[in-house]
Amino acid sequence: MNDLLPERSGGWQFVENTLIRVLAGYGYEEVRTPILESTELFERSIGAVTDIVEKEMYTFADRNGDRLTLRPEGTAGCVRAAIENGLLRNAALRLWYRGPMFRHERPQKGRYRQFHQLGVEAFGFVGPDIDAELILMSARMLQAVGLTGLRLEINSLGTPEVRARYRAELVSYLSAREASLDEDSRRRLVSNPLRILDSKNPEVQALVADAPRLLDALDETSRAHFQSLCSVLDSAGLSYVVNPCLVRGLDYYTRTVFEWVTTDLGAQGAVCAGGRFDQLVEQLGGTPTPAAGFALGLERLVVLLEERRLLPPPEVPHLYIVHLGEEAARSALVLAETLRDALPGMRALVHCGGGGLKAQFRHADKSGANFALVIGESEMVNNTVTIKDLRGALPQQTIARADLSAFISTRL
Ligand code: ATP
Ligand code: MG
Repeated sequence: MNDLLPERSGGWQFVENTLIRVLAGYGYEEVRTPILESTELFERSIGAVTDIVEKEMYTFADRNGDRLTLRPEGTAGCVRAAIENGLLRNAALRLWYRGPMFRHERPQKGRYRQFHQLGVEAFGFVGPDIDAELILMSARMLQAVGLTGLRLEINSLGTPEVRARYRAELVSYLSAREASLDEDSRRRLVSNPLRILDSKNPEVQALVADAPRLLDALDETSRAHFQSLCSVLDSAGLSYVVNPCLVRGLDYYTRTVFEWVTTDLGAQGAVCAGGRFDQLVEQLGGTPTPAAGFALGLERLVVLLEERRLLPPPEVPHLYIVHLGEEAARSALVLAETLRDALPGMRALVHCGGGGLKAQFRHADKSGANFALVIGESEMVNNTVTIKDLRGALPQQTIARADLSAFISTRL
């Protein structure tokens, strides 16, 4: 679990604010849910035999003995909130959320025990139009933060009935070749065979490449749904790869699933992942409502942008105000307020903590500020301010306080 320190928080803010602006452009609205939920919620939604529920959740009993879990993902809480608050009575609902998620995983680059997601869920849309909207929006989000060169992979998991039939077919294919499976896959052969499809082990991958394909086993409606999605993406000029082995680690997905992946983060290649979950609302006690969504992993996004030096430089103050004497100190604070009133968006630091001019200028320099404003004895007497250019070559000048905001606004 990481602390986010000031030297990096500007980058995070840039990323989050940019993503949120894109969401507004598609009419999605924010929802905030608790980071603690009842354990049962995740067991019922994510699936009892998934990695998350089996070994990654932070679960404990509270003082009443109720089983609670720090949320490992955002969809279950979103669905619970939508059901409990009657949000699904209106036909259509477009939501987004962001915040920390918790999974007890082996920490490594791009994989942490507390990490942050920005996620999106759309409820009430049965057709592939919403799948397309979500994928196009995720593409725009990545583009907006400046991330290029990611690969979009899509697949269809069909209906639960199709999956059950396919599961049997896959199990019989893999059982006949069990000797070539690793331990993990052998365990999954019993518990969750579809997960073997996205094994990272090259030998298992080779085996799986010739296995029967879920895409070939799709029912007519799922097939048409998938084709229609592909044709929207084609028309929009968004390139993608159909990856028949893309299955996702949560049980609740149906039909469309997709991921944005990079090869720049080792095994932690997925930056954004999602799909449809048409049964989940009903499964959690709501009226049957089709749904789809995705989540972006913010750590992975930020790290990629940092490595490619694509984050904007940190914002330095425009002004650092130094002063000499008690009266000037008071005056500096008041002047800064006046300037902030007159020039919204201006960043001014007033020197605090006393000290001589020389020491104050050292702080001014270290702050990265463009200009120092000096209020000394003569400035107090004459109601002026001296402006010193800390970075450029503008000559030092003293001007009347009344002219100060106009002077600054022409130079910021
Ligand atoms: P992975 O295959 O990398 O474990 P996942 O399928 O478990 O990912 P999801 O549950 O779909 O991931 O979460 C969506 C996104 O959240 C991922 O694509 C990834 O960017 C991010 N993410 C998931 N787990 C972590 C983690 N432990 N640390 C940092 N980011 C994570
Ligand atoms: Mg995972």
